[in-house]
Amino acid sequence: MENREQMRKRHEAEIEALEKNCLHVKLSKWKDYSWAPGHLSGRVKVCKNCGKIIKRDKRPGPDSSTIKEGGKWKYLIVTTAT
Ligand SMILES: [Zn+2]
Repeated sequence: MENREQMRKRHEAEIEALEKNCLHVKLSKWKDYSWAPGHLSGRVKVCKNCGKIIKRDKRPGPDSSTIKEGGKWKYLIVTTAT
């Protein structure tokens, strides 16, 4: 029998393989993303097949990954995978 750790590793490897072989064609709508409960950090689009985050945008603000345009902070859309 597999123990918990072995099972977790196997699932991780399977998910990794799924992401690698996936073309990420169908994306979800923009949805709120939080890195921890109650900590919203922007919005993401995920692949409907493998669940990988494909696009991410950040809340406007003084942050290295956002841009200021015409005096206003703008969302910067970052493509995290192709
Ligand atoms: Zn995918």
